[in-house]
Amino acid sequence: SNVNVSVAPILTKLQKECAAPLPVLRNVADAMTADMRAGLVVDGGGELKMILSYIDALPTGNERGLFYALDLGGTNFRVLRVQLGGQEERVQATEFEQVSIPQELMRGTSEELFDFIATGLAKFAEKEAGKFHLPQGRQREIGFTFSFPVKQTSIDSGILIKWTKGFSVSGTPGKDVVACLNEAMERQGLDMRVSALVNDTVGTLAGARYWDEDVMVAVILGTGTNACYVEQMDAIPKLQGNKSPSGRTIINTEWGAFSKGLPLTEFDIDMDAASINPGEQIYEKTISGMYLGEIVRRVLLKMAEEGALFGNSVPEKLSMPFVLRTPHICAMQQDYSEDLQAVGSTLYDVAGVESSLKARKVVIEVCDTIVKRGGRLAGAGIVSILQKIDEDSNGAIFGKRTVVAMDGGLYENYTQYRRYVHEAVTELLGTEISKNVVIEHTKDGSGIGAALLASANSKFD
Ligand code: ADP
Repeated sequence: SNVNVSVAPILTKLQKECAAPLPVLRNVADAMTADMRAGLVVDGGGELKMILSYIDALPTGNERGLFYALDLGGTNFRVLRVQLGGQEERVQATEFEQVSIPQELMRGTSEELFDFIATGLAKFAEKEAGKFHLPQGRQREIGFTFSFPVKQTSIDSGILIKWTKGFSVSGTPGKDVVACLNEAMERQGLDMRVSALVNDTVGTLAGARYWDEDVMVAVILGTGTNACYVEQMDAIPKLQGNKSPSGRTIINTEWGAFSKGLPLTEFDIDMDAASINPGEQIYEKTISGMYLGEIVRRVLLKMAEEGALFGNSVPEKLSMPFVLRTPHICAMQQDYSEDLQAVGSTLYDVAGVESSLKARKVVIEVCDTIVKRGGRLAGAGIVSILQKIDEDSNGAIFGKRTVVAMDGGLYENYTQYRRYVHEAVTELLGTEISKNVVIEHTKDGSGIGAALLASANSKFD
């Protein structure tokens, strides 16, 4: 009955603390640009790692031949082959397969895991037929997308820093992951070689750039978040003059680690403290899909406890971390019915909550507050990269069409989030300049991107 009276102050405080008006966004964008610059001077110079990709040949469309890609980034690995036919024929054929990784292998030895992957790759390669054709005397080449923290040491080598995402395989950290795969392929008698080791954002950029040479940035907004972009080698002091003919390379920003100037609340601070990596990945924890639902849950729990949001008892399930996921809050925000039926049933299914219409309206407001902050801060991140590129090219990009390739389930599925990202970019750049900035959704481009980078870095040219 007087639910809103006791909940209202909590909501008002939340909205105030999460607000990301233009001056806050500008401050975040400028601080991130400055941090990028510091990270390009020396490793560890900023919060953003600004990892060198060692890629200096971007896809052009001229690529020809048969190339493979292998993608290891979660509970599945994917293998793909593509037959490329140059400018006219482009992608003549593709085939892919997905193999799920048995739980026990995610906690086993390095040899077991890589043998399993090499075996899957060998089975896939055996089925090569039809439109796929390898010229005589050439070895099959692979672009290897490996989405774990790696210290890249060349285009085709990189040391695993640590496993994440539920993997704890013994023997790999500190080793070159390409060597691990090559050794496993040898044990399996598989005659293939890795030509490019690729981060997934870098693969996304390469995949999009193949179709559109105005692509300068790739952003992933999914479970986690990251971004990469095309940088002038002259603007990378830590390269110490090691330049390639193209004069350009891709920088993997690892922007999830950023933290300066973000509007944070007690809910963010508590969630971070309870996380497996406290103090790390603060930007990621504010904007990415893994966390948005959990922040909302923490707010609702406080509202239930201190504001009787759901009546006099506090629903037990609401105290369980991560019961409310981002797809749930997304589904609730798509409910345009008068009685908010879907909000009610989601709350009931997920947290065993019986809710009044008034409570449902508050829940929507909370979701919107958290998602608006996330989307707007993601937009500020995009602008920080665009202005970094622009500063180093003497204003050359804001005068012409520039494409940001976007991938990830959060951006793809969450309409409101996507709108907030776009709004923030437009506000920051102004309507004139933002007309030149195209944010393009590219679904699963990273696989083909890795194969294209294998081609661009082929040992047989
Ligand atoms: P990943 O980032 O795990 O490689 P995706 O790019 O597919 O994979 O992103 C998956 C993430 O996207 C999920 O963890 C979730 O946070 C978000 N997501 C997926 N589906 C939805 C949805 N319907 N609404 C909102 N967010 C979603």
